[in-house]
Amino acid sequence: MPRIVDLQSRSETLKGVKLIMGEGLCSNIYVIGREKAVIVDTGVGNYANPIWPQLDIIGVKPENISGVVVTHAHHDHVSGLFIILEKSSPKVYLHRLDARYVATSINSTLINIDDGDVIETELWPLKVIWTPGHTRGGICLYEKNHRILFSGDTVFPDGYYGRYDGESARREIVNSLSKLAMLDVDILLPGHGMPVFKNASSHIRLAYENASE
Ligand SMILES: [Zn+2]
Repeated sequence: MPRIVDLQSRSETLKGVKLIMGEGLCSNIYVIGREKAVIVDTGVGNYANPIWPQLDIIGVKPENISGVVVTHAHHDHVSGLFIILEKSSPKVYLHRLDARYVATSINSTLINIDDGDVIETELWPLKVIWTPGHTRGGICLYEKNHRILFSGDTVFPDGYYGRYDGESARREIVNSLSKLAMLDVDILLPGHGMPVFKNASSHIRLAYENASE
């Protein structure tokens, strides 16, 4: 059973945010709030990552899920959405360039998001930053006041960044990383692995330097 981390135990800023750690090739799942929870990424939705028991343990019932944001339409981030949709009808947020891969199979309110859009949560608003490169419609989510970045597979701790395919995608990810490197970020919540809880901007700048070499 995937590990659930109450992120408040690591940073008081993250009070009300839970992390369901991805097992194997499964994305992290972040759960923001509880009464009107917003979930960021949904994992691979296989038997090792079944989602509902974990949401039950966190205290989030199907009717409490108000939104699901998918950072990009790779199956290890989006497949768990269909397990959520078996019991719940949240709004589903995806960038239009990635939404087209799953739109026909979503029987819920699909909202195409784009750069600069704001997604409200119980805790704080999240600004959408379009960060193509890993996929065409990849996004990150930024909370300016608390300097939090949900970074999907665009950037990871310690100077790592998302895999890309081809020269134009390489230029895109370098651009995306330069955009992220200009943000003031303390807390980095990546799509895989453990988050960074302070000075995350230095990790992002390192990724930008590594990618632009
Ligand atoms: Zn990915």
